[in-house]
Amino acid sequence: MGKTFAVIGDPINHSLSPNIHSAAFRELDLDSSYIAYRIPKGELEEGIEGLKKIKIDGFNITIPHKIEMMKYLDKTDESCSLIGAVNTVSNKDGILKGYNTDMDGFLEPFKKKELNITGTKVLLIGAGGAARAIVAGFAKAKAKSITIANRTLEKANNLSEFAKKLGLDANAIRIDDVKDTAKNYDIIVNATSVGLKNEQSVISLEGIDEKTVVYDIVYMPMNTDFIKKAKEKNAIVIYGYEMLLGQAVRAFEIWHNIEAPYNAMKKALLGGF
Ligand code: NAP
Repeated sequence: MGKTFAVIGDPINHSLSPNIHSAAFRELDLDSSYIAYRIPKGELEEGIEGLKKIKIDGFNITIPHKIEMMKYLDKTDESCSLIGAVNTVSNKDGILKGYNTDMDGFLEPFKKKELNITGTKVLLIGAGGAARAIVAGFAKAKAKSITIANRTLEKANNLSEFAKKLGLDANAIRIDDVKDTAKNYDIIVNATSVGLKNEQSVISLEGIDEKTVVYDIVYMPMNTDFIKKAKEKNAIVIYGYEMLLGQAVRAFEIWHNIEAPYNAMKKALLGGF
């Protein structure tokens, strides 16, 4: 029998996940389908019951359910319990197991481009859910230190404590205090939602050079102001779509237990822009 997958969240109609996964099914001739299913905030429990009733084989979770979904899991893998948020679930005979593929999805482009993380100094802008998975990723890859800059200092402080628990040398500052210090870092990541509406980058990239890695996790539009400023400095750029693709590839492999057709998925994703 064919398998069924979904992405749940709200809003969900602009999700690129159905395109990416459907392209993989076509490429490998799998009898599977993948749908976008809107579940509003406050209706997660009923939504999950519905998915179990139709014997969904697996699903992705996006804003606003990544943390609340933890309550409805029967099992969690290591990344998911460490981060405290879930973006991928498998369903085996009614047993829901949660994973967080954002962390490995974030790291994937570094591997693909053979960019080193070990021993580097990182500036992370933002301290929301995605930033938490990114901190766990930098700890796993053994960065030397991480400065977390956020509009709300308290959230940066909390994330900095989390980073320290994972063994990173960490500190927290306000975004406004980054000023002209970008040049002091090897890797700079935007993990805020700034850029989605074509806003200006929240920090200056003055002084960075062609050795600096600049990574924007905002994937729509592809060329955010942050990315454009990095390109002007000839920095090494990583786009948000690369993380999106990385997490989708990892989710595919969890569900299907076979290697994901990376190029077909990438082509489908880029076609969505
Ligand atoms: P979140 O938990 O809501 O966190 C949002 C972050 O953005 C917070 O740090 C918030 O700062 C900051 N922020 C929002 N508006 C701001 C503004 N005007 N000025 C300065 N900072 C601002 O969201 P999330 O789940 O972490 O997601 C963040 C972004 O990453 C979203 O755009 C999402 O689409 C994207 N994302 C991409 C991928 C991918 O695969 N490429 C994966 C996950 C998420 P405060 O704490 O001060 O509010």
